Amino acid sequence: MRIDLHTHSSVSDGTEPPAEVVAQAAVAGLDVVALTDHDTFDGLDEAVAAGVAGGVEVLRGIEISAEHQGASVHLLGYGCLAANAELADELARVRVGRSERVPAMLANLARYGMPVPEAVLARQVGDSPSVGRPHLADAMVELGYVADRREAFDTWLADDKPIFVHRYATELRTALRLVRQAGGAVVIAHPWGRMSRDRLPPELLAELAASGQLDGVEVDHQDHDPQTRAELRTLADTLGLLATGSSDYHGAGKTGHDLGCNLTSADVLAEIRARVAARGGLL
Ligand code: AMP
Ligand code: ZN
Ligand code: FE
Ligand code: FE
Repeated sequence: MRIDLHTHSSVSDGTEPPAEVVAQAAVAGLDVVALTDHDTFDGLDEAVAAGVAGGVEVLRGIEISAEHQGASVHLLGYGCLAANAELADELARVRVGRSERVPAMLANLARYGMPVPEAVLARQVGDSPSVGRPHLADAMVELGYVADRREAFDTWLADDKPIFVHRYATELRTALRLVRQAGGAVVIAHPWGRMSRDRLPPELLAELAASGQLDGVEVDHQDHDPQTRAELRTLADTLGLLATGSSDYHGAGKTGHDLGCNLTSADVLAEIRARVAARGGLL
């Protein structure tokens, strides 16, 4: 079984519509794919329908913007009931925060001699309800300021670069609770990627695991080198956390994240599904 549990569509900051992501999953020989757009469930019905038509099982997912002690933490939620009011309200708050920080980043871009007309950004955002820095990056590419998303982030948009503006994200423990409350299973995405290791030390993961707040960690991710994967896998085994592996596919928006480049085992998927079923979530 080839199982990839972390992908993005144009409903957030991927470049292909949900149905196309699922079609590409079939091309990549995947049996199961989860669509996990940032802070929105809007692409899931389309993805599930495309999966039925295309012979790929689609797991309903989301990637939630959380934070712990001021540092960004991404959570993958599986099987959440989109209608859960408390979760829906919180996601709406996060999306408002995404939109509200845009003018400040546009002002920063103008200050650095890279004005981005609102119409250019609007075209890149399209009808996504979840605007993010990758949309700004694509506008910068369109205007010839940078060659690609990677250069846009490395030079301008990353958290320690001059254009970056902080945005609202849900407190980690609140987000963990909301996913479980909505019937879902919750996995920390790329926990030790991009220097985030200090923010999520083994003691914190141990506490979240022991208290039943967390189901798993994404071990196999392109932001983790082989040693990091080995250490995180050992820790997950010790703590009884599920270990997943996924691509974090963004279509043409991210190179080196091809569908199926990392995979999750059938056993782990079965356990995720069992927990969602036990919590009354949506499979
Ligand atoms: P935002 O959601 O606006 O905070 O933008 C963060 C998103 O940009 C992440 O979810 C990734 O999809 C993407 N991204 C790509 N490269 C980077 C990078 N070097 N640093 C941070 N985010 C990146
Ligand atoms: Zn993304
Ligand atoms: Fe992420
Ligand atoms: Fe992601």
